[in-house]
Amino acid sequence: MACIFCKIIKGEIPSLKLFESEKTLAFLDIGPLSRGHSLIIPKHHGAKLHDIPDDQLAEVLSVTKKIAVAQGVQDYNVLQNNGRIAHQEVDHVHFHLIPKPNETEGLGIEWPTK
Ligand code: C5P
Repeated sequence: MACIFCKIIKGEIPSLKLFESEKTLAFLDIGPLSRGHSLIIPKHHGAKLHDIPDDQLAEVLSVTKKIAVAQGVQDYNVLQNNGRIAHQEVDHVHFHLIPKPNETEGLGIEWPTK
């Protein structure tokens, strides 16, 4: 099995898991675009959205929502790419959950109040 996400599901490649059920796995992206950037995937292997059974997709979206709530993020993107032209690199359906933190956080910036 050459699929890197199937190897992560099987534990053959390590990952920082956030959630796991019979049908779904969520883990931190190894190349995060922001702190907490995670990937939520169906365990069923399929390259594109239309390859995944509806019940698996429904759980993946539900888990995506739960992780956003658990992270306490207010602003975030949920992205899902299909095909090379659409910037898909890994051919196993995955949803990106990308928190968009307040850009002043952690920078010690105090905005003027008047
Ligand atoms: O949507 P796309 O296919 O471009 O995204 C693939 C994502 O999988 C990237 O954000 C990459 O950092 C992530 N990845 C990962 N662990 C791997 C291989 C890729 O988190 N072992």
